[in-house]
Parts: sequence; structure tokens; C-alpha cells
Amino acid sequence: MNLTPAQAHEAYIGPPSEHVDISAFVKSANELQDGSEERAPIPLFSQSSAGLPADVKSAWSSLSQSDQDIIAAECCVDDLRTALLDTVKDPRLMGHVTRTHEATVHAIYETAESSSRKKRKRTTLADPAEEHPEVTALRLKLEATKLKCWPLTMHAASFIRPPRQSDHNTLISVKSLGKVSGGERDAIIFVTVYNRQSWGQRLLSRSSQHVLLSSQTLGDLFRAIPCTSKELPKETRDQEGRVTGYKHEGSPDDMADDDGHSAVLCVEGVLYSNGDGDRGYAESILELSASLPESKRPELSEGPSMDAAKLLSLTIRLHEPYWILHAGNCEHFFTFTTIRSRHPTDPSSGYPLTTQITPPLSDICRVCNKVPAVFSIVGDVRLGESPYLICGPCWRWMGEPEDEGVLVVPLPKHEKGWITNEE
Ligand SMILES: [Zn+2]
Ligand SMILES: [Zn+2]
Repeated sequence: MNLTPAQAHEAYIGPPSEHVDISAFVKSANELQDGSEERAPIPLFSQSSAGLPADVKSAWSSLSQSDQDIIAAECCVDDLRTALLDTVKDPRLMGHVTRTHEATVHAIYETAESSSRKKRKRTTLADPAEEHPEVTALRLKLEATKLKCWPLTMHAASFIRPPRQSDHNTLISVKSLGKVSGGERDAIIFVTVYNRQSWGQRLLSRSSQHVLLSSQTLGDLFRAIPCTSKELPKETRDQEGRVTGYKHEGSPDDMADDDGHSAVLCVEGVLYSNGDGDRGYAESILELSASLPESKRPELSEGPSMDAAKLLSLTIRLHEPYWILHAGNCEHFFTFTTIRSRHPTDPSSGYPLTTQITPPLSDICRVCNKVPAVFSIVGDVRLGESPYLICGPCWRWMGEPEDEGVLVVPLPKHEKGWITNEE
């Protein structure tokens, strides 16, 4: 299976770090900050000035005002900023810059993609003869720039966003999923979640990114992850056990027996489950593992419940993929990407935060072909195929189905993990 360079870059996980004991990390960071009898306290985020020798620190203030002004003028970038703003504000110039950029990126991708994949349509640039004088002036100015970039080889493609990039973020600002503010001494932990590609089960792609406090738990992480499997509609059955309909969780006649929160997270061979039913996922996995021949048996053990497992209590490896299983067979992988102390400019509360969500692929209504479908209709002869995906207005416009056997299955609304937990 050929991946585009951007997909390959997204799917790349690792290499893992050494083991990191999160509580030991927090402890040593705090010890640095507090100092000891032998050593003065070191402010964690202002080493640049605090760590400097005294004579260096006073170097600037000992200069005369005129010397300071000369240096300030020399380091000033206002001319660059003005040139930049003038271009950005002018749609004609900005259009030219954008198209040139896209054409360049396109050329890099074209070189990097060795596969026989159908080449993307080339971004065409306007013929210089038809160019507006302003654009020509800008183009000549840019072409005369002496500053040159290193040659961009095909390997550069992995690090450049493609023209029509798949790496979108549905969020326009950081999303708070909780109200937790934690302590000042908490560490901040960044997590990236990966899903399998629907068209290639061995391939992973990034689906969301989250920020948690070290005092939060694996359960908090699990609930922050947006997943359509958390929103599967509940079946309603008749006395013989036949499925007679579906309803969304939270609807007035919801009699859900499973809250959809059962899951297991596996970190460094320890299973953190929360099955409060008869059998948790952890138990089932251990049983399955025990049935394997000894050479193939993974080394697994059962840990505390995921809501009791504070991140602080874990020893992890950064960039090592860990595993989540829930809703029967819905799998996710996640990596811890960064651990650091809390910075004064970090949000003071609202953890867990979600910083990125890859847009889910929504099926479009097959009647109007305009808006996302919200129902899947099963067994309605009027629609010509079953199941049939349709939007709300189009379905209402169809009127009541004559056949009682027609099932209206609500599609996931993307609520769990998308909107704030009401707790
Ligand atoms: Zn899932
Ligand atoms: Zn429609």
C-alpha cells in the first residue's frame, strides 16, 4: 500500500524514549524549583535570565541610552512587517503569493510521490503577460531576493503541508472538556490518539490530540477521546428479541443498560479497565491471552481501574504506542508525546483540553447530496436501496413509511468527546 508522504509522516510513531516515571519527573522538577541547602532555586521557565552570571545580566542596563537605541534600531524588523502586512492586506498580491506557494509545494509533492497514483491537477499560475503591474512588481522583488533556501528534496515533502491537506483540525480554538484546574505543581502531559484507517487496517492516522494534568487519570483520557463508537444507538427489541428500532442515547425512552463507558487501556503491559459489569475487558483479555501458546503470550497483568490510575502513578515511554479497546471491537492507539512542568501561561483550568480533532468523514444525504446524513434507513422500498443515508429534512419530506418493518437508525452525532462533559 502506497502512502503519500504526508500520510506516511502522520502514521509514523516512535522511536520510544527510555522509561519515564512521571511522579519522579514531577518531584525532580519541583526540587529544582524549590532549591536546596546547597543549591539556589532555579525558576523552571526563566533560566534564560536567572541562570545568567550577574555581569551579563547588567550588560544591557549599563549601556547608554543612545547605544541602546542603536541596537534596538539594528534589531528592528518593522520594515519586514510592513512589507508583509501590505501583501497580506491586498487580495491581488496575496492571491499571487498563495498560488505561487501552492505551485511550489505541488512540485515538491510531485517529485516525492513515486507511486502510480493519479497525479493531482497542477496549480496553474497566471501568464506573466496578463499580470497586474502590482503583481509583477512584487514578483520581481521576490525573485530578486538574495536569501536562498536549501534545495527542497523529496524528503522535504513529509514536513510540508500538501496543497489540499488532509491534516485539518476541526477545532479553531483549544477545547476544554472538564473544569479541573489541578495544582500548580502538576505536570502537563500531551497525548496523541491514532485510529486505524478504514481502508488499510495496518495503517494508523492521527485522530485527536489532548492535554492532561498529571493528577488526572487514564479514565479522564479515555472520556476525552472523540469516537463514534461511544455514540452507537441503542437497540430496542420486541419480546422475541428481534430488533424493532434504534434510539439515541439521552432520548426520553432511553433504557440503556450499558453506559458506553466500559473500556480497557493497556500501558506498558498493564491493563486498566473499568468494567463494572460481570466481566471487565481486562479479565477477558487475560483469559484470551492465557489460551495462547506460551511463546505467543503477551506479558500482561491487571492494574487498578482506569479511574483510579492517575497519570502520576505511571511509568511510561514517550512515543510508545499504547492501546485502547472499547465498544466491543473499537480500537485506538495513543502515545504520550510530551511531559513538562506547568508554565504560567498554560490555561489555569478546563483540563482535559483537546487541541486537535481530525474531521470525521460524514456521509452525505443521498437525496439532496448537500448536507450530512443523520439517519440510516433500513428496509424502505421507496428508497430503492437499504440501508439508505438521508438527512433530516429529506426524510421528513418523504413522509411516514407504509411498511412497519422500516428501521430508522440515527447516525452518530459527534457529541461524546466533542462537547464539554456535564459533570
Ligand atoms: Zn472508539
Ligand atoms: Zn438531504
